[in-house]
Order: sequence, then C-alpha cells, then structure tokens
Amino acid sequence: MSTPDSLSQDARGEMPGYKGRLTSPADPGYEDARSVYNAMIDRRPALIAAAADADDVAEVVSFAGRRDLLLAVRGGGHNGAGLGTCEDGVVLDLSEMREIEVDPEAKTARVGGGCTWGEVDAATNEHGLATPSGFVSTTGVGGLTLGGGIGYLTRRYGLTIDNLLEADLVLANGERVRAAADENPDLFWAIRGGGGNFGVATSFLFRLHDVDTVVGGPTFWPVEAGSEVLAAFRDFLPNAPRELNGFFAFATVPPAPPFPEEIQLRKACGVVWCYLGDAEGAAREMAPLLDALPEPLMHGAQPMPFPELQSAFDALYPAGDQWYWRADFVDEISDEAIEEHARFGPELPTIKSTMHLYAIDGAAHDVGTEETAWAYRDASWSSVFAGVDPDPANAGAIREWCVDYHDALHPHSAGGAYVNMMMDEGREQVRASYGENYDRLARIKAKYDPDNLFRVNQNIEPQA
Ligand SMILES: Cc1cc2nc3c(=O)[nH]c(=O)nc-3n(C[C@H](O)[C@H](O)[C@H](O)COP(=O)(O)OP(=O)(O)OC[C@H]3O[C@@H](n4cnc5c(N)ncnc54)[C@H](O)[C@@H]3O)c2cc1C
Repeated sequence: MSTPDSLSQDARGEMPGYKGRLTSPADPGYEDARSVYNAMIDRRPALIAAAADADDVAEVVSFAGRRDLLLAVRGGGHNGAGLGTCEDGVVLDLSEMREIEVDPEAKTARVGGGCTWGEVDAATNEHGLATPSGFVSTTGVGGLTLGGGIGYLTRRYGLTIDNLLEADLVLANGERVRAAADENPDLFWAIRGGGGNFGVATSFLFRLHDVDTVVGGPTFWPVEAGSEVLAAFRDFLPNAPRELNGFFAFATVPPAPPFPEEIQLRKACGVVWCYLGDAEGAAREMAPLLDALPEPLMHGAQPMPFPELQSAFDALYPAGDQWYWRADFVDEISDEAIEEHARFGPELPTIKSTMHLYAIDGAAHDVGTEETAWAYRDASWSSVFAGVDPDPANAGAIREWCVDYHDALHPHSAGGAYVNMMMDEGREQVRASYGENYDRLARIKAKYDPDNLFRVNQNIEPQA
C-alpha cells in the first residue's frame, strides 16, 4: 500500500503528461489545499491534484480508477456536506480551470469547471447579460449547476440546468465526451440535476439573458411578525409576475451598513428581493405585499447591478464558518407549517443562522418532471435550514437547532430535498430527492460509471 508521499511519486510517474499541481500531506501548501468552505468538514486527503486542463483531469481520473482510490471532485468547494473532499483518497481540484468566454452575439458563456459564480456574473454583466445561478457569488459553478441551481432568476428564466446547453465531461474510464441534446442525450439528461455522479464537467456552455441592473435587497419585519409575513408572502409571490422574485428568511439583521444601527443584530423575518426592471416597476409589483403588512423595520430594495446583489452576502458568509444544513421540497406552505416556522425561526441560535424559502415556480415549472433529472418540478418551494457560526464550540448548538427545525417541518414537505442543500441524510433521502427519476438515473450511472468511481456526492448507485 502506498504512503501519501509515495502516492504522489507514483502519480507523477504514472501521469508523465500531467501539468497541474500535486500536493501531499508533507507539502507546505497542504493545509490550505485541503480546506473547504464548511469548516465543520476536516478531512485529510492523501493527494490533492489541481488539474491544469481537461487532459489533466482525464489523467487523474484514470489514475484513481486504476488504483481503486477514493476520488473526490472539487469545483468551488462550497458543498455543505464537504463533498469536494475526502479522507485518505485523491481530491481532483478544478480551481485552476476558470476560463470564461462570453459570446454576446450568441448570448452564451463557456465556463471552466472550476469557476465560481461571481467570476461568471462579472464577465457576463460586462455585456448586460446573466444566466440563472444562486443567491451567493462565491459558490462553485460545477456543484451548483450539476445539482440544479436555484436562484434569483429562477422564476423568470428557470433553474441553472434549464439554461445549460452543453457540457464537456471526463468519464470514469478517462474518456472525454460532450453532453448536449444532440450528443449523449442520456448523459445530458442525467447531469441536469444528477450531481457529480456521471463524470467530471471540465466546461459548461450556458444560455445568457438580458439581465443588467435589478432592484434588489431586503425588507425586514420584527421576527414576531413571522407568521403574518410568511402567510402573506406565500399567498402573494406565486401570483406576482415572473420578473419579481424574493426569498423568505428568518435571519438576524447584520451588524454593518447599510442596515440602520438601531435594528442591527435584531432577529427579523423578511424577504430578499430581486426584480428584473426599474424602481417604479418594483414598487408597483411589491405593493400588494407591502401594503398588506405592518410597516417594516427596513425596506432596502434598490437598483443595483445584478452582480452586486449576487455578492451581497459574501462578506457575511466567508469561507471558514461551521455550517450544518437540512432542506426540503415543499408543495404547499400550510397554516400548520407556518406555526412551526414561527416556533423555530425566532430561536435562531447564532447571528449567521438562517432559514430560507425559495420559490420554485414560473419558468422552473415550464420544464416537465421527466425532462431533466431534477425531479421536483411540481414542488413550489425549496426550504433550507442552515445553522452557521464561526466558533467550532457552537457546532453542536447549530446542528441541534437545524435538525430540530427540519424534523418539525419535514412532515409538511413533499418528501425529497434539493440535493445541493443536503448534508448526510442518507441513501433513502437521496432516492426520495430524485423520486420517479431515480431508477433511470441508476441505469445511466451503470452505463457511464459502473464501478461508482464518482461516489463522493449524493450518490446514485449504478443499477444495470
Ligand atoms: C453559502 C452558500 C450559498 C449557497 N447558495 C445556493 C443557492 O443560492 N442556490 C443553489 O442552488 N445552491 C446554493 N448553495 C448550494 C450549492 O449549490 C452546493 O453547495 C454546491 O454543491 C456547491 O458547488 P461547489 O462546486 O462549490 O461545491 P464542491 O464542494 O466543490 O462540490 C460539490 C459536489 O459537486 C461535485 N462537483 C463540483 N464541481 C464539479 C464538476 N465540475 N464536475 C463534476 N462534479 C463536480 C463534487 O464532486 C461534489 O460532489 C449554496 C451553498 C453555500 C455554502
């Protein structure tokens, strides 16, 4: 059996054409290279290979496959469950593969498999364009896209996968292929929601839309108004035009400008808005909700470039905090569910902990349940419970709140959860999250990765 250092030497010997970096536990950069966004994850891979290009990716995949080594693929390293790393195995780190080519005429962007969304947003915004991603700019394109992609633009332009035109992949056998509607369509179907189960995506081609300045920001009410605000929001948003999106949140008002000092650090409930249009249109479309509710503590929605809204949470949530996640898909937010939210929301255990409810409707509902691997097209909401704190001493408290809150709401859910916001809920919950698409995914997995080399993910086991 190889020691970590000899593994690195073996890798160099067996991959003569490899141009990227190899980092072993004995190397000076190892501690940095092994860290991922969620500091609760503390794994020590035997080798970290930062590939320079797709040929390098193929070399590393083949090396790990030949030697039957555990292989983790890392895009942005943001995954809550730490699926961008592993214990003792090989981490294939794509962070050197961050090239972006925008074609403003064709309205497309070709994006390297290791990019983060902030980089993509900045490049596309130069042309007044964007593609749907999430609500945070530091998240990796790779993991977010392959899992689905829920964000500010979902109601108007769909999930991220609904805007994926093609992807270049390295398969488990080291072969390089293109997946698109006209080439390997089964693979193209599977990677739109099936996560990193089918191969390493070395580049993505996205459709872009005219999105430049948006009206974004939060409206906060006192946390005690949680039931009233959530009930009104539930009835309001699905009937609002697709240009208006917003997610409901229980959160603590951050202790920094632009939040007024008198409400900083106050627990609150609210909506974080994104309106595709001007300030006048935003005021008009938000009015039915705002007029129906008491005066908010703060109404901070204002015009800003889309990348500014996307990066609004970056400072609050830097890498290195402890995170514990749970999630659900929700068909309908019942009055009983609202009562549970009103019980747990005000008990946020730390100032960074939060609960969000994201709308899944509008353009996300234009695509059928079986058209992509992403099975919950009939759900209307995706909820996420996130316990967050910089101090490892609070890891138990944030986990407990998160699990208790989720346990109380799960009976009111549709059963499965968004795989990108799950932690370690186990095989049955993964299966439930793919619903009727699971068996087809398992067959495609058997075709493209029969030995389950790509198993550091919310795993779909191969099934012939
Ligand atoms: C602060 C924060 C905010 C978030 N906000 C949103 C949001 O608004 N909307 C949303 O949809 N999700 C959101 N997420 C969840 C996010 O989509 C997942 O955590 C996702 O897994 C992150 O992708 P990554 O590439 O950064 O992760 P990694 O940890 O690098 O990888 C996650 C998984 O994807 C696989 N993977 C990554 N890149 C590739 C690739 N190129 N080829 C093959 N497999 C790959 C990995 O093997 C692993 O299984 C958020 C996460 C965080 C931490």
